[in-house]
Amino acid sequence: MKNILILSIATFLFLTSCCKEKEEKVEKIIINNSADTLLKSEHLVMATLWFQKSAEMQAIYYQNFKFAKMMLDENFKKDRFKIKKTKPKAVITDIDETILDNSPYNAGLIEKGESYNKESWAAWVNEKRAEALPGALDFCNYAKEKGIEIFYVSNRSADRIDATVENMVNEGFPFADKEHMYLKAETSNKTDRRNNILENYDVILLLGDNLRDFDEIFGNRGEDFGFNIVDKNKDKFGTNFIVFPNPIYGEWEKAVYKGDFSISDEGKRKMRVDALDK
Ligand SMILES: [Mg+2]
Repeated sequence: MKNILILSIATFLFLTSCCKEKEEKVEKIIINNSADTLLKSEHLVMATLWFQKSAEMQAIYYQNFKFAKMMLDENFKKDRFKIKKTKPKAVITDIDETILDNSPYNAGLIEKGESYNKESWAAWVNEKRAEALPGALDFCNYAKEKGIEIFYVSNRSADRIDATVENMVNEGFPFADKEHMYLKAETSNKTDRRNNILENYDVILLLGDNLRDFDEIFGNRGEDFGFNIVDKNKDKFGTNFIVFPNPIYGEWEKAVYKGDFSISDEGKRKMRVDALDK
């Protein structure tokens, strides 16, 4: 009798825990598909899909790197920066979404219903599985063959340098070493890092998916989203600066939120819609 009683209690507890687990699972699924979650990341689905699944994106990257090779040759001859020509020539390129593809990180955020955060980004970088973007390796190796060094100036955190170097070595990038890697120590402003390189090199081409990869003058977009400042500098695009498309994130998005990412998800959605020209 006693054994039957113990067995009954155990069965009851087991079934209760199973039901609870099932309930939690159901609740989790509901939470991950809640309006709040969709508000947080649904707008990133199309952007990330475009980056990963549009052949147009692949073609644009090939096109940009082909053009970058042409301008590398032309600038090598003309030295458009008109600075001392006794220094060796160099290229400065950004890393993320310029030569390495981190869109699987964003896809993971969408799946989990999360937003960008430093912890999950650091974990992604440490996985070292970002792949080279179409045409990136060909361009970098072309520059190396021409005797032009490449410097990687990125706002990845400086304490992620080992993982970044390893990722880039595995992908086959030339100059993927600590001497050619200028990551973010204190500020996301890349001016000092660029100037540091300019002390010893003539930088004949810059590549990036964010206009701040070229010059900090593009940092503050102002009321007109930076269109005026780009207009004033239009001659540099396609000559000294090669810009890559990034519909997933960037300074442009910050401008939509008027520099304030702390706004609620609902508030951000409203600002996105309000910013559209109708
Ligand atoms: Mg970038």
